[in-house]
Amino acid sequence: MSEPKYKRVMLKLSGESLAGKNGFGIDFTVAKRIAEEIKGLVDMGVEVGAVIGAGNIWRGREGSGMDRVTADNMGMLATCINALALQNSLEDLGIETRVQSAIEMREIAEPFIRRRAVRHLEKGRVVIFAAGSGNPYFTTDTAAALRAAEIDAECILLAKKVDGVYDMDPNIYPEAVKFEQLTYRDVIEKDLKVMDITAITLCKDNEIPIIVFGLDGEGNILKAIMGEANGTIIDCNE
Ligand code: UDP
Repeated sequence: MSEPKYKRVMLKLSGESLAGKNGFGIDFTVAKRIAEEIKGLVDMGVEVGAVIGAGNIWRGREGSGMDRVTADNMGMLATCINALALQNSLEDLGIETRVQSAIEMREIAEPFIRRRAVRHLEKGRVVIFAAGSGNPYFTTDTAAALRAAEIDAECILLAKKVDGVYDMDPNIYPEAVKFEQLTYRDVIEKDLKVMDITAITLCKDNEIPIIVFGLDGEGNILKAIMGEANGTIIDCNE
């Protein structure tokens, strides 16, 4: 088999990716499938960090009139629920995993400590970064970009429902065209809804390529790391 293109990656999963067909909560069949795909990477010697969202449970900005900070705190706690679910599915497959949380909850997860996270990765453990960035008004996409920079990840694998970045929503417009390659600047200037601007800017400043691909379909995470994702690559290729 050919060699993976990257040695250390940051996998960003939306909360919805764990929801399966229900669109809400956690579908453990789906969690198992994602864990199996991550195992494929680990078995190839790839070091995997992961950030998971919480859209399957709670999104702060949809907090129905709640105080934004409280709603965002709830969102960050919800990412911890997803992180523990993913950890459980990975451990069921015998993959050593650590959850590091940006909000201290020592009985449940390690606090985020960059050097310790890197050490875990070097030992072949999957590190799941929970509680986003630990700050309200941010997203887990931004947390993924931040942690990717901190752990020196070579790329972000951005798993989506759609199989890449399109010029318009392909679910609404069948004539939508998929981009194979984009620059960070394209994403910002065309206001493409891939990641929020804070996240894209962090990736741009730190030159972290983003591989956008569809999570549906067997083996797509593996394909992404082999450079065969057939999705969209975002980097500084001007
Ligand atoms: N959140 C936050 N700060 C962060 C990351 C997340 O306040 O650094 C909150 C915010 O309310 C967000 C929610 O957690 O809506 C869930 O994250 P996100 O919307 O990014 O999840 P995803 O869309 O990836 O499932």
